[in-house]
Parts: sequence; C-alpha cells; structure tokens
Amino acid sequence: MRIFDTLGPQLYVAYLRWIEQLPPVLLRKWHGRRLHELVAHAEHNIQMYRERLADIGVRARDIRIADDLERLPILTKNTFTGRPVEEVIDVSRPHGVWWNRTSGTSGKPFTFLPNQLSAATAFNDYMCTRFLYWGMSLQPLRNARIAKIKIRSGQRENKLFIPVKEFLSDTEKVYTALVEFKPTIIESYQSILGELARYMTDRRGAARLAVPHIISFGEMLSRPTRDRIEQALMGVVFDRYGVEEIGVIGTECAVHDGFHVHVESVIVEVVDAHGTRVPDGQNGKILATDLHNFNMPFIRYATGDRGYISRIPCACGLMTPRIWIEGRYASFIELGERRIHHLEFDGAMDGFMQYVHQYQIAKTGPREIVARIVSGSGFGEHSASDIERSLRAVVGGNVAIKVQTLASIPITPRGKTQILVDETMSGAG
Ligand SMILES: [Zn+2]
Repeated sequence: MRIFDTLGPQLYVAYLRWIEQLPPVLLRKWHGRRLHELVAHAEHNIQMYRERLADIGVRARDIRIADDLERLPILTKNTFTGRPVEEVIDVSRPHGVWWNRTSGTSGKPFTFLPNQLSAATAFNDYMCTRFLYWGMSLQPLRNARIAKIKIRSGQRENKLFIPVKEFLSDTEKVYTALVEFKPTIIESYQSILGELARYMTDRRGAARLAVPHIISFGEMLSRPTRDRIEQALMGVVFDRYGVEEIGVIGTECAVHDGFHVHVESVIVEVVDAHGTRVPDGQNGKILATDLHNFNMPFIRYATGDRGYISRIPCACGLMTPRIWIEGRYASFIELGERRIHHLEFDGAMDGFMQYVHQYQIAKTGPREIVARIVSGSGFGEHSASDIERSLRAVVGGNVAIKVQTLASIPITPRGKTQILVDETMSGAG
C-alpha cells in the first residue's frame, strides 16, 4: 500500500504490469514478501486474524515464502459474518473506500470493505481490460468507450452504465442508447449479452451495433452463447472470472483457454474437501488471497466456486497460471410480463444483511413468489414488510409476495442452495 500511496494510481499500474511479467521463480519470491506483509498487518491490526493465527500456533514471522500460505487457515464467508464487523477489519486507520455488498449465488448477504485500489479508476480499468495488455495492441485503450450492463452502477465520463433491470424492462430504449454511445468495449453477464444478441437477431434492420471487444463475467459462458454474442455484436468475447469481495481474479487471453490469474493481485489455490492442496489439473475448491486488501484482508478465502489450475505455459506466451471454473449458471424467471434476472433479487436483498443470514426466492405460481428468509437477531416486526417493499420494486405491482422465515434453506439436488428457484416447473431443481 505504501508503494501505491507514493506512486499514485498510474505508476502503480505500471508497477503491477512489471510484476505480472516476472519469471515464475521471482514471482514466487515477490508473493512470499507480499504475503508476509499482509499477514503481519492482519495479525497486528485485525482481531479475527490474531485469534485464528493464535489458535493454530502460527505467527506472521513464520510466513516468509509463498509455500507458507498453506500453513494458514481457510476462511469462508461465514468466518466473517459470524463476527462483529470491527473484529474483521482494520480499525487502526481510516479506509477511504466504501462498504460494498454482495450475496452472490449463495444468497447470503455480506458487506465487506474492498481494497484501497478499488477506488482508483486507473486500477479498475486495468483489471477490466487486462486482455488488451496481453500481446495485443494497446491502441483500443486510447479513447475506449466502455458500456457496462450491471446490477449496481454509477455514471462516469466515457462510460455508459446500464442497470440490468432497465435493460430487461426496456430493451429497445437501452439498445438505442447503446447504438448512440458506440461502445468499443461492452461488459456484462453472459445471460444479458445473450439476450442482447437475441434482441439484435430478432430485429434485423434495426440500427447496427458493432462492438470489437466484449467482456463476459459472473456466469458460466457456454460455447453456443459465446458464438451467438460474437456473431451479433461482430466482436470477440473475453471471459473473466472474479468474486465481488476480491474483484477480478482471472481473465482470458486471445487463446481463450482458461483464465490467466492476475498474479500481481491474487494468489489462487485449489484444495480438496479437507483443505489440502490438490495437484494441478485436479478439481477442487477455489481459494483466493487478495494481495491488495489491507482494510479487510481475504487470505485463503473460499470463493464458493470449484475448478482446477494449470501451470502449463499458454500458447499466448504468458507465464501466469490459468484456472478453469465449473458451475455458476445464470437464471431468469418470468413473472407476468417481466423476465427477471437472478441478480436483480440479489440487488433487492442488499439492504437487509443486518438481519438476513440467507435467502431464497421461489416462484410458486404464475404471479406469485415466496421469499424464504433465514433471519438473524435484528429481524423485527417491520422487517418482512421492508423486504416485501424492496422485492415489489423488482417484480412490479401485480405479483403476490409472501415473506416466510425458516430455520434453513433447503439444498437443491445440485448441492448448492440457489437464490432463485422456479417451483411451477415440473421436475425443476
Ligand atoms: Zn494465454
């Protein structure tokens, strides 16, 4: 962090680019140093880490090389949510970043402090457009016009942010805005990009939108969807992997075979059910360590995803490891005239993490949903109606909403609780 403060965002990004190009041996040395710095900071300033380290008898001074990471405990979202917030963040200094929220595919609302760099445009742009730095011309970055269709968004110069809800409820208006904006890069969930492609194919003759670089994230991208998006938008899709708490973890290069890990920012490990590292190429749980977050460190954090890692050099020439992720499917439900993306419910449930441990939205009739809530201690007499009001803004006036509190959310046959289920379809699961 000190280097960042001294250099400022632009030069710091240049420094990160240099780190990424280090040969693996030197990169491991750098990881070891960085890790020591991060763990020492966590031990000194954050109660949760101090206690967890004491429990296993490891001190920050024992963490010196990259392999020492394996000596540290594995953390999950529950490790953080089970404690008062002042025990999991650095309370010794002001943060300069805002609290962020996520519930992701698990439906467990969670607030977290992102890393210091997340507030810097230069850093975010570097993270989001990384594929352009890898063996391709940087020309597209000059005067880049970036359009993003996301759940939460704000406006910035040379960028067009479109809320998913607006896209789904008035595709034509959004499409016209996109054509006018002429993006050179468009970024969204694969399901939304797929919808955009479908809209364009259905409406041949409409003003043409051509986008050279398309970034897909947040959901599994299938081959047919990728082809459809590329044909409609006349560009190339680059898939990206990340989690809200940490940010971008890996990005595809021009070879499109796995996500190259952003090694200057994250260390990725793959472990089995017992938390032991599995050999490269073998499937397991994905853990990520965020090397930039000193506000609320995520060290050996279970992302909730499964996949595998390979260190076999890529045909593109990059030496960084690649990961492949399984799962994370997109889903929509239809309620009346509206098609609703699962992440819109995530957005609606954002404000309730103080008293919602977990939730699931089930469609139980053509115009009926049930919000199943595992409630926490702050759940009061107005909580159910507050939740109903927030969901109402998503589903509209003519859908019945029931709010139900339960001790736990039933597990689906896929083994993961889903935040959105359609129980009106026979055999759904
Ligand atoms: Zn590559």
